[in-house]
Amino acid sequence: MSATRAVILAAAQNNWLKERASRYAFVRKSVSRFMPGEYLDDAVAAAGQLHSRGLGTVFTHLGENIADASEAEAVVEHYLQVLQRTRAESLSTEISIKPTQLGLDLSEALCERNLRRLLSAEDPTRTLWIDMESSPYVDATLRLYRNTLADYPNCGVCLQAYLHRTPHDVSALLPLKPRIRLVKGAYREAAEIALQRKPEVDARYFDLARQLLTSQMNGLVRRAILATHDPRLIGQITQFATQEGIRREQLEVQMLYGIQRAPQEQLASDGWRSSVLIAYGTHWYAWFMRRLAERPANLWLVVRNIARSKSSSRSTIELK
Ligand SMILES: Cc1cc2nc3c(=O)[nH]c(=O)nc-3n(C[C@H](O)[C@H](O)[C@H](O)COP(=O)(O)OP(=O)(O)OC[C@H]3O[C@@H](n4cnc5c(N)ncnc54)[C@H](O)[C@@H]3O)c2cc1C
Repeated sequence: MSATRAVILAAAQNNWLKERASRYAFVRKSVSRFMPGEYLDDAVAAAGQLHSRGLGTVFTHLGENIADASEAEAVVEHYLQVLQRTRAESLSTEISIKPTQLGLDLSEALCERNLRRLLSAEDPTRTLWIDMESSPYVDATLRLYRNTLADYPNCGVCLQAYLHRTPHDVSALLPLKPRIRLVKGAYREAAEIALQRKPEVDARYFDLARQLLTSQMNGLVRRAILATHDPRLIGQITQFATQEGIRREQLEVQMLYGIQRAPQEQLASDGWRSSVLIAYGTHWYAWFMRRLAERPANLWLVVRNIARSKSSSRSTIELK
């Protein structure tokens, strides 16, 4: 892991910085590059535009590591409202939740109850995704997934290619016919836990992507999503799919809102499934810092916005 990335990821966990960041217009302006706004209305408007261009969408309401059960309850209530709203708007949007947002730090049982409430309200033809957080949560998240998958086959989980354990986790999940969203991994992890070098992570990602796509073809995986912005990997994966005779509508690439917009649309117009995860909400600090860490060149965006905010007479900039 590069020193810059390590410093940004350490800053992502710093409460002092977190409390101050949102006060600055240049930070809020930089965040707006990666999210359409703080409110559900903003996400719904963005989803409508993306659907009209042939892209699928997934919503995630930002927030993690809530401190008491009433906060988890508010998160559940919010997502129930999202499910109603997207249905009313005829949007085929799915949702992706973080276990610590549903109370995993408080109790696994509480988190599972909350997840089940959402699953029972979700349309069974849509996948409800469970995000994967940092490595101490992986075992509990996979337990949660196994427990709920038995009753809700439309539940899906994210797996991180950089973890040494992930090839084993994939093999262990296959007999359950899982839905898996494969990512590289966004957290600061020690060398004993995760691969540190990009070429190694990329090679691991490609191996797992091939395994998931082949397993999807053989019916062992219900749905595989390749969530990456990496143009080289996406090229390798689409080439593999073509060689193996995988139909274009059977391969889905997912990216984050605001990143690689042109390639997102290109994939869709070439006939592959392409979808966008839209994050929104007021608790964006840690999430935004992880986006900076993924591409330290994004720091220039922040620097540019500092320069602009100094030359601007406006004291606040709306997050839109
Ligand atoms: C839909 C989706 C869901 C995710 N869910 C999770 C999750 O549950 N748990 C988890 O740990 N991680 C999650 N991630 C984040 C993921 O782990 C990676 O940190 C992130 O996707 C960056 O890795 P990459 O595959 O794009 O490749 P990288 O090698 O990081 O990037 C490849 C190229 O993509 C572009 N790019 C990548 N990131 C950015 C960025 N932030 N800003 C601008 N350009 C960028 C750059 O051109 C870069 O050169 C998710 C990512 C996506 C797309």
